[in-house]
This record gives sequence, C-alpha cells and structure tokens, in this order.
Amino acid sequence: MITSKTSFIALIGNPVSHSLSPIMQNAALRYLGLDLIYIAIPCEDKDLESVLNSLKKINCKGLNITIPYKEKVFELCSEISPIANKLKAINTLKLNSKKQWSGTNTDVEGFIYPLKSLNLTNKQSIVLGSGGAARSVIQGLINLNFSTISVISRNKSSLDELIKNFGRQIEIQGLLNDDNRAQNLMEEADLIVNTTPVGMKTTRHEEHILPFGENFWRSLNSKSIIYDLIYNPTPTSLLQLGTKKGCMTIDGLQMLVAQGIKSLSFWTDGLEVPFHVMNDALKKYL
Ligand code: NAP
Repeated sequence: MITSKTSFIALIGNPVSHSLSPIMQNAALRYLGLDLIYIAIPCEDKDLESVLNSLKKINCKGLNITIPYKEKVFELCSEISPIANKLKAINTLKLNSKKQWSGTNTDVEGFIYPLKSLNLTNKQSIVLGSGGAARSVIQGLINLNFSTISVISRNKSSLDELIKNFGRQIEIQGLLNDDNRAQNLMEEADLIVNTTPVGMKTTRHEEHILPFGENFWRSLNSKSIIYDLIYNPTPTSLLQLGTKKGCMTIDGLQMLVAQGIKSLSFWTDGLEVPFHVMNDALKKYL
C-alpha cells in the first residue's frame, strides 16, 4: 500500500514511456516488502540538472538513468564507480551519506548473466554495432575471457574509438559491415552479439529487418550462439533465424532483468531478489 511514508526510485530519460523497468522493479519491491515504489520520469535535457538536484531533497532513494543521459549525469555525480568510469556511462545512481549522487553501471553484469554458466574461455566473438551498449558488451566479453572480439559496425569513428579504448585488454579488431572478411568471421564465431537497435519493435513496423540486411547472415551456422540485446519483440527476427539454423539463442530480457537486479541491490545496500520475480512480471506484461 502507498502511504505517506512511501519513498520512491525513479527512471530518468527521454523518452521513458517504452521502459519495462517499472514493471519488473515494482514486482521486486513488492516481493521484498519494501515501502518503496518505482516510477518513470521523462525529463528534458535543459531540466536534467535541476531535476537531479531536486530529487536529492525529497524522499527519492535512487535512480536509473537511460537514453540520452547516461554520459551527461557524470557531471552531476560526486562519486563514480570504476566500471562506470571505464565505460563512460552511468545507469544507476544512489544518494551517499553526504546526500550527493553516487553513480555506477550495472549493464556489464546484466550482459554476462546468461553466459555465466557456459564455458566461453578462449572462444571467438563478434559484436554488431559500436554504440553505448557495445561498450558494456565488450567489457563483459573481456571478463568472460574470450580470446578475440571482432566489432562490426557502419560507423567508422565510433568503431575506431572502441578499438582504441579496449585494444590494450584483448585482441580486438574493427570492421565496417561491407568488409568481405566479415563472412569468414561469421563462419568461425562462437558468439555473435547484436547491439544495434535493428529488429526492435517501433512504430515504423521494422521488426522483420536483420542487422546489416539478410545477405550479411549467409554464413551463419549452428556453431554460433546468437545473443540479441533487443527485448521487444521476443524473439526478434534475428533470433528466429538463429533458431532455424540450429543456433543457441539468447534474448535481451535476461540482460534487462539481471542489470535491474544489480541496480536494486545497489540502492538497497545488497538486497537480492530472485531472477524469476522480475522475469515473471515482465513475461506476464509482454
Ligand atoms: P546507441 O548508442 O545508439 O548505439 C547503437 C549502435 O547501432 C550504433 O553503432 C549505431 O550506429 C548502430 N545502428 C543504429 N541503427 C543501425 C542500422 N539501421 N544499421 C546498422 N547499425 C545501426 O544505442 P545503445 O544504447 O548501444 O543501444 C542499442 C540497443 O541495445 C537498443 O536496441 C537497446 O534497447 C539495446 N539495449 C538493451 C539492453 C538490455 O538490457 N537488454 C541494455 C542496453 C541496450 P550509428 O552510430 O551509425 O548510428
């Protein structure tokens, strides 16, 4: 029951109306029996600083940050975790003992969650796309001890930037999507991760499109695990193709839930909620 003592956690971004976080986080807060609710707050760029400063002064216990503010909130935090600093992105904030925002990033742990039980040491991976999510994915692949990462993207400048950032930690190469070498890599890959938004449900009904077009996938074979970060629709057209080819497939819902569990643990100083609590709430809603 919401009472005059109830506190809240909020998602800040623009837009936020598509977010599934309120569904799964409220299910988890109810499960834990906490007097807390989770709401989504759309925020204009010009208001971000004043909104974050105001939230410090009322009964707000923590925040999730989404597009387009994951980088911009750096200047509004007085403490930043090493992983958020490394990824140059913050997705979770809480107030520290001095009532200042402390920021971290839970996407790497979220990405790793469905891969943890597989033995992927010294395996070869491909990452499609070179945006914000690709950074968390690459860090996750490094943590899982993959031997090589090939990033394939249409954007040369962000591709070059990624290779520069991670080149000292792992054998990593960047390719443009029309590079002929991509097909050989596709034949050999143990894991292919889609971090582009291609295949996502949009108002333009483009969910049947595959990242980089159908021809790009001609060398796909059952050896590869296909991991699509997109969680709506599930399965995406890419995961349907993977299943048809005999590949193991992983959708973006598991990452969404796992990063949400880690955020909740950050806000509550270590409380854990079972995976199925958030997952079931989402499955019921979708
Ligand atoms: P982002 O920073 O905008 O990066 C998107 C990347 O995809 C960029 O490299 C972009 O290239 C590329 N791209 C966009 N449209 C493309 C197209 N039509 N063809 C080929 N490449 C294209 O976005 P993000 O934050 O990384 O998020 C990417 C996706 O991951 C979204 O669908 C998001 O919902 C999903 N995601 C899921 C989770 C989860 O928990 N499951 C977590 C984070 C993100 P350009 O730079 O050239 O545009």
